Amino acid sequence: MSDNGREQGEFTIAGATAYTYNPLEEEHDLSGHPESHRRMVAISQLLQQHGILERLRSIEATPIDMDRLLRVHDRDYVRLVESRARQGGGYLDPDTYVRPSSYEAALTAAGGAVSLTDAVLSGRARNGFALIRPPGHHALPGQGMGFCLFNNIAVAARFAQAEHRVDRILIVDFDVHHGNGTQAVFYRDPGVLYFSTHQYPFYPGTGDWREIGESEGEGYTVNIPFPYGVGDEGYRRAFEDVLVPITERYRPQLILVSAGYDAHWDDPLAGMQLSIAGYAEMVRQLIELAEAWCQGRLVIMLEGGYHLDVLAHSVLTTFRLLEHTSAPVSDPFGPAPRPERPVDDLLRRVREVHGLT
Ligand SMILES: [Zn+2]
Repeated sequence: MSDNGREQGEFTIAGATAYTYNPLEEEHDLSGHPESHRRMVAISQLLQQHGILERLRSIEATPIDMDRLLRVHDRDYVRLVESRARQGGGYLDPDTYVRPSSYEAALTAAGGAVSLTDAVLSGRARNGFALIRPPGHHALPGQGMGFCLFNNIAVAARFAQAEHRVDRILIVDFDVHHGNGTQAVFYRDPGVLYFSTHQYPFYPGTGDWREIGESEGEGYTVNIPFPYGVGDEGYRRAFEDVLVPITERYRPQLILVSAGYDAHWDDPLAGMQLSIAGYAEMVRQLIELAEAWCQGRLVIMLEGGYHLDVLAHSVLTTFRLLEHTSAPVSDPFGPAPRPERPVDDLLRRVREVHGLT
């Protein structure tokens, strides 16, 4: 095996995968809400059954420093979340609850995202997965929404820019919803290339393929707005035909991933048709891109995913692949039961608008 871990087209990355877990996520919970603590219970039970975490490097999640949070969020908004929690909780929008301990839980989710990114950038781990909630990618600088309080991945990217001098960060967001918050933070910033696949039209309504960034950031936002019913083949094509050439052109030094497993065919909230095997192909591709361009530096962060068993098996599979790209996929649900929608016209338009043809 050569130094960079390549062996016959596969990667063995022994002892180099880390994880972080937000111990306060349990406090951010609302019975009957899809984004609840039950999600993390399902994940941790399956990971424990398979003995995954004990062999990985554990990175502690602690509340984020305010200066780091304020690189993304407005001070007034942070105060609003804090005061809403102190007052006993409430809602930021009809979907987005705040409980008495949600402020600390959200600070610690963002802190975990930063700590894991720091571990990867300082060479203490090659790659990693942040088991954090509440999720983050819908959170705007001044407004929480869509189950998200603070934008964990945006805060981690700003940290990498400011404290590790990373010039080019690729954020890949395969959650079924468009990461409007992440897109907004970096819309004018060529230092972060935001690539998103998502159901469209759908919540939150943004992510048209014509949204490509502005001013200095023009061309550094890449949206693939899939119609209802796209599955493994459409996602594979989007990665091969758009993500791979965009990545080769951009030459990122770090890849961050907003990992939402709500594009699975059995997810209760959305209408896409990915299988866990399809998710695994995407994760493999991301690991290979990180190995090819970023010395393996890849940090995956949990976003959505609301079918508890699908979520747990998807996270288990992702961890296995981070350790070894040829690891077995755990997919008891199998392929989507319906044929999927074609994406040729959409991908042609996306390639055109980004100068890939
Ligand atoms: Zn989602």
